[in-house]
Amino acid sequence: MNKTGYFTHPDCRKHEMGASHPECPARLDAIEDRLLVTGVGDALDRREAPLASFNDIELAHDGAHVARMRDLCQEMGRHVADGLVAYVRIDPDTLMNPHTWDAAQRAAGAAIAATDAVIAGELENAFCAVRPPGHHACHDKAMGFCFFNNIAIAARHALEHHSLQRVAIVDFDVHHGNGTEDILGGDERVLMVSFFQHPFYPYSGDGPHADNMVNLPVPAYTKGMAVRELIETYWMPRLEAFKPEMVFISAGFDAHREDDLGQMGLVEQDYAWITSRIRDVARKHAKGRIVSSLEGGYNLDALGRSVEAHIRVLADL
Ligand SMILES: [Zn+2]
Repeated sequence: MNKTGYFTHPDCRKHEMGASHPECPARLDAIEDRLLVTGVGDALDRREAPLASFNDIELAHDGAHVARMRDLCQEMGRHVADGLVAYVRIDPDTLMNPHTWDAAQRAAGAAIAATDAVIAGELENAFCAVRPPGHHACHDKAMGFCFFNNIAIAARHALEHHSLQRVAIVDFDVHHGNGTEDILGGDERVLMVSFFQHPFYPYSGDGPHADNMVNLPVPAYTKGMAVRELIETYWMPRLEAFKPEMVFISAGFDAHREDDLGQMGLVEQDYAWITSRIRDVARKHAKGRIVSSLEGGYNLDALGRSVEAHIRVLADL
C-alpha cells in the first residue's frame, strides 16, 4: 500500500481568472507532468477529491459568504448560456468564472477527504493538488486568488468531527496566511507557524496577534539557510511543546528564488528540508499524520520541482 495520498480533481482545472493570470490551470499540469516523468506519481495513492458540503465550508466561513460565492457562480452560468462575458471580479486579482464554485468545493473537499483517510489510518499523509488555493480566504470574504480556506476547513473538520484536541498548521507560502489567521487566531486548539516576506501582500502578520500564531516576517531576498535557522529557533520549540495530533500544511512554493510573485531565495532542497522537519514533528507526536494542500507557486518549472521535493519527503522516496 502506498502511504502517501494524492488528492485532485479535473474540476480544479476549470476555474480560471483570465489568460494572463498567474494562478492558472497549467500549474496543476506542471505538477502532474513532473510527478509523471520522475516516477514519483507511481508511489502515490491517487484519489478523486469529493465536493465539500456547504456545512463543511461553514466550519471556517460565514454562511452568507459561502452562499454569495454559490449564487454568483450560478448567476454567471446563466449569463454564459446567454453568451455574455463569464467573469466576476471579487478584488483586483481575484475573479470567478462559472466553474469556480465547483473547483472551490473540490479544493476544500480534497483536504477534508485527505483528513478522513489519514485519521482512519488508510494513509500516513497526503498532498492535495488543488486550486483555487485557500490561505488568504477570510471568515467572511474571498481575496488574493482564494475563495474558501481549504486548510482551515480541514483543521476544523479534524477538531469537530474527529475529536482531535490539538492540530498544527504550517504555512510556508511567501505571502502571509491572513485568512487562516483571521479564522483560527485565538482558537487554542490550533497552533499556526509561518514565515512570509514582509512588507508584502497582504501587508499583515507583523502586528499584535493571538498567542496561537507564530508569525515570522522576513525581508525580501532572504535565502533558505536563514529561513531554516528561523524555523529551528522559533517554530520547532513551539511545535514540540504543543504536541499536535495532526499537522496541516499550507504548501505554497512562491518563496522559490525563480518565482516572480515573491522575492525570496528558497530552492527545492529548502522545501525538502522544511518538509522533513514537519515530518519529524508529525512522526513524534501525531502518528505521522500530515495533510498538505497547495497554495501558491507560479513559476511552473520551479513549482513542479518543488512539489516533487515536498512529496518525496512525505512518501520517503
Ligand atoms: Zn503566495
